[in-house]
Amino acid sequence: MLPFRKILCPVDFSEPSTRALVAAEELARRYEAELHVLHVVPPVPLVELPPGSGTVAFDVKKYETELLTSYQNFLNEIIAANIKPGVSVSQHLEMGDPAHEIIVMADELNSDLIVIATHGRTGLRRFFFGSVAEAVVRRSPCAVLTIPAHDLTA
Ligand code: ADP
Repeated sequence: MLPFRKILCPVDFSEPSTRALVAAEELARRYEAELHVLHVVPPVPLVELPPGSGTVAFDVKKYETELLTSYQNFLNEIIAANIKPGVSVSQHLEMGDPAHEIIVMADELNSDLIVIATHGRTGLRRFFFGSVAEAVVRRSPCAVLTIPAHDLTA
């Protein structure tokens, strides 16, 4: 399994996921591995109106494009703030179901490690893992390092 060559770090821009990104950065530096940072934007849900009630003038495609542009900027910012020079980093932005897209990307990249926080934006700490983290641990094609949501140094 060692040395790690490709490390995938999915981020949702929550504090725990930033902590996971810092851990992934350290590992990438130590193993001279490629670091791949991924965010997945869930598709905008389509709500059906009752039959015969016409349509709502809402441009879903335009909204999705704007969302993707914003998230591209967030990705740029989180990488600039947390990845120091000397680490080879690539960023990826996908639209779809987060857990599914994370698994697909791990497969496609042939990554040998996923670094993911146990919790994210929802942060329901009564559950051992958040739903995305749990699905990734269950279905990952490679090793998964889970980073606790609380501060390890506290
Ligand atoms: P919670 O239910 O507490 O929000 P999740 O399982 O959704 O927990 O999130 C755990 C971690 O999974 C996040 O910190 C992040 O690393 C990753 N993650 C969650 N959603 C996404 C997403 N849309 N894109 C990329 N990574 C994600």
